[in-house]
Amino acid sequence: MSNPVVLIVGRLSGPKNDVILRILREVAPRVVEEFPAVRFQVVGGPVTAEHWALQEEFPWIRFEGHQSRLGPYYGAATLVIGAGRVALEAMGLQKPVVAIGERRYIGPLAPPQVEAAKATNFGDCWEGEAFDWDRMGRDILRLLGDKRARDLAARTGYGLVRAEYSLDRIFPRMEELYRETLFEKNLSSFHELPILMYHRVAEKPPAGSKYNLHILRSDLERQLRFLQNHGFTPTTFEDLPARRVPKKPVILTFDDGYEDNYRNLFPLLKKYRMKAVVFLLGDRRHKKNFWDIPQGESAAQLLTAGQIRQMAASGLVEFGAHSLNHVRLTRVGPREVRREVEGSKRELERFLKKPVVSFAYPYGDLNEETKKTVREAGYTFGIAVQKGPSRFADDLMEIRRVHMFPETSWIEYWKKTSGFYLRYRKLLGKN
Ligand SMILES: [Zn+2]
Repeated sequence: MSNPVVLIVGRLSGPKNDVILRILREVAPRVVEEFPAVRFQVVGGPVTAEHWALQEEFPWIRFEGHQSRLGPYYGAATLVIGAGRVALEAMGLQKPVVAIGERRYIGPLAPPQVEAAKATNFGDCWEGEAFDWDRMGRDILRLLGDKRARDLAARTGYGLVRAEYSLDRIFPRMEELYRETLFEKNLSSFHELPILMYHRVAEKPPAGSKYNLHILRSDLERQLRFLQNHGFTPTTFEDLPARRVPKKPVILTFDDGYEDNYRNLFPLLKKYRMKAVVFLLGDRRHKKNFWDIPQGESAAQLLTAGQIRQMAASGLVEFGAHSLNHVRLTRVGPREVRREVEGSKRELERFLKKPVVSFAYPYGDLNEETKKTVREAGYTFGIAVQKGPSRFADDLMEIRRVHMFPETSWIEYWKKTSGFYLRYRKLLGKN
């Protein structure tokens, strides 16, 4: 256990706040004396001047404010301090819980404390007050120092919550918390996930192509072989939240859903047993790249319904959304953004009969408002172009991709896929 985290979740007002402040002032310093690397992380609000002053005084305290996604915090915690709903959630996630409520200290959820915990809603409900700060300090030290004690507390809590509380009925949030926790765990296992962006896959260079939106099938095949030889496993966005992330992942993405993806990409995916993500327009009446043609780009067919179904059924292709009408989202009003973002999810889900989790911004065009709309529409991933943080999990609504041009050379390809490339570009101050 390198950097233990003691997580405290609770309201920072009224009696709860008093209890949290006393833990931080009277118990935490004792713990830090023996475990100098420990951090006390407090999630909840409102964070006031009094809290900031405390954080200033004790650098091992961090007030995180109110957080809507608690899963990652639970996931990273070594042990959790809390009462009521917090205790139950943490127990459900198999975290060791030290129960303390507004009225009394219960302690680690080992078998002897279970009855008292149940009777008092984990210390919230009690006549009078009963806090034993010394004992709390000793308990936390013991838990931090002894993995078996932590495991016992985690097991007891989990058993209690399974036996006594109808998890699924009382806590519909539980599943979401599980998902968030797992997800964060998976993502933290790798920091750089190269995501490559392609469009068309052509047999020969299309006549009069202006934007270089194609790669030759023979070049793509060479690139896939390169990935294979270097131990990369192409994965998809929908695979990330599950425990299915390969050791050296890469994501191949293809925008717009061109018909040549069926003819030239799909056979390669089957040949190499590799996965890819294709972003489709939600309005299934579009048959061609109508948005590029007025700019002088040559016309190209889009995938037919039958082709999409075959590709989806193979399990090798995830289909994501790319708006309804290939609209520049920062140039239209909020209502139209909503229509494009929500509408493409709804239409594609109806068509594919499964959830659509990823959204690629047309032209990589986005701002904070569009990101918010994409998140609120229920997508897990917002896919950008060359912008966004270089570390994959930093902003899931603005995921950076590397543009693959037809003339991308071998050495460039290698650099683009080997993670360090993004850091290297950053060092140079380029995007
Ligand atoms: Zn596009």
